[in-house]
Amino acid sequence: MNIMLLGAPGAGKGTQASRIVEDHGLVHLSTGDILRKAVADGTPLGVEAKRYMDAGALVPDEVVIGLVKERISQPDAREKGVLFDGFPRTIPQAEALGAALADIGMALDAVVSIEVDPQAIVTRITSRRQCRGCGKIFNVATDGDLDTCTECGGEVYQRDDDTEETVRARLDAYEAQTSKLIPYYREHGMLYTVDGNQRPDDVYAAIRAILNGVG
Ligand code: ADP
Ligand code: ZN
Repeated sequence: MNIMLLGAPGAGKGTQASRIVEDHGLVHLSTGDILRKAVADGTPLGVEAKRYMDAGALVPDEVVIGLVKERISQPDAREKGVLFDGFPRTIPQAEALGAALADIGMALDAVVSIEVDPQAIVTRITSRRQCRGCGKIFNVATDGDLDTCTECGGEVYQRDDDTEETVRARLDAYEAQTSKLIPYYREHGMLYTVDGNQRPDDVYAAIRAILNGVG
């Protein structure tokens, strides 16, 4: 089973992704996490990507498409299936993914779009924190202002691009480019939507019901 999570920044993709990969044994492919690792490691790719990320802009298609192709060509991706989180974000990325999956005899089985009220997003993102070690996502409003991760003891930090100004630019990029994927995948008969304004457990219950029907 290959699944894609779609949604605006702050819709809760990362939170739901952890649960889905745990329950379905999928490979979690988050382009945001891959890019942040490249930035942290100071690779040439990371240095280039950071300029876009800090501005709230999308990293160029050819860069992220290359990263995704490399990851899905590894044997575990084909054996276990993949959860795509934060990719594709543009129509050219979606076309490239379809072609790359077809090349290895695979396809996307479902696109789950998590829909949230735009007013809630800026608050959600500016109160978001993440573990540097395991990637677990926390929120100051519900978890308190943690220094260390409850799962792995790693350092809990705030992403450089989780400032109010950058969030607004990221929301603009979502509207201008990524939201076009909703009609695109609807036309391909793959789109399922869930209400992301609910509590995380309830969002997950809705996703599970969809995935049980698909796989
Ligand atoms: P969020 O969904 O909260 O915006 P992500 O972690 O998915 O966060 O992405 C963070 C940043 O990484 C994006 O704002 C963008 O600059 C870059 N990025 C991640 N995935 C892609 C992609 N598929 N295409 C282009 N840029 C991407
Ligand atoms: Zn952790």
